[in-house]
Amino acid sequence: MNNRFKFLKKRKARPAGAPEVFRPHKTETGDMSAELMNTVNAWLKTQFGRKMVKLSIDGGFTCPNRDGTKGVGGCLFCGEGAGGDFASDISDQIRLLSKKWPDAGYIAYFQNHTNTYAPVKVLREKFSAALKHQGIEGIAIATRPDCLSEEVLDLLDEINQDHFMWLELGLQTIHEETADLINRCYSLDIYEKAIYELNKRNIKTVTHLILGLPGETKENMRESVEYVCSSGTWGIKLHLLNVVRNSGMAILYPDYLPFESPEDYIDLVCDLIEIIPPEITIHRLTGDAPRNILISPEWSYKKRTILNGINAELKRRGSWQGCKCE
Ligand code: SF4
Repeated sequence: MNNRFKFLKKRKARPAGAPEVFRPHKTETGDMSAELMNTVNAWLKTQFGRKMVKLSIDGGFTCPNRDGTKGVGGCLFCGEGAGGDFASDISDQIRLLSKKWPDAGYIAYFQNHTNTYAPVKVLREKFSAALKHQGIEGIAIATRPDCLSEEVLDLLDEINQDHFMWLELGLQTIHEETADLINRCYSLDIYEKAIYELNKRNIKTVTHLILGLPGETKENMRESVEYVCSSGTWGIKLHLLNVVRNSGMAILYPDYLPFESPEDYIDLVCDLIEIIPPEITIHRLTGDAPRNILISPEWSYKKRTILNGINAELKRRGSWQGCKCE
């Protein structure tokens, strides 16, 4: 371990009821991912007793890293849509999805921009409206760790007492040099403080990391995953870096290719899954940019192919989530 990361802590105690060791097992649906990993979909099914679907909601928020409060121009990888390009109205989404999954329950996912960046009164109205909507059984909120004031934490605490909820934090990397390069505009200790405050209130957190950021080696990415897994996060999202239109990446590094091939990416993700502790829920293993704005890597939109490749590689190795945890 590099000396710079001596702040890496011992793993937190396993939450009550979390598996000690994840063992490959058969599922009713034959879902290979759920057989080899603690996927959030499988976890939600055990909690709610049926399939749960996340609905992407655009709450109309902005971002302090775009309006000059924290920075300008946004994070280097971020397109104008901030990853929420699929967001649409709740009723429309339920109407469409209920044809496919008539018995599903729904979680309102505030995805676009920074969803705690507004006066608390506004946040309360928007989150309450979503939670009151028929069919909605929980809420997920994506934000930045530097947008969690005491008042916001109090509101989240209040919601968490009465509703199923988790909060998502965009960390992307633990390496300050990369954080500067991608214009993240907050330091790692802000993330540490946020996780501490959220855990203190028993609020589940999901941490986002990006694989393939400029200048990062596979060892750097592994250090980020190890750090996040020991930080007290409940879940993890691993994003393949997507270069999208209207992003800083597209302007500064138009020819950038984060991985040589899908196989190269799949190999790294499998290495990382093996060191993610079994109690941590896995929420994402690929990129999610819509094809019409995706520049590179051009194979990134083939999400099913990448996920199948990850499952096949784990199977070939005879490995699974956490099998190489200490
Ligand atoms: S990634 Fe999030 S924090 Fe960064 S510019 Fe986009 S919306 Fe803002």
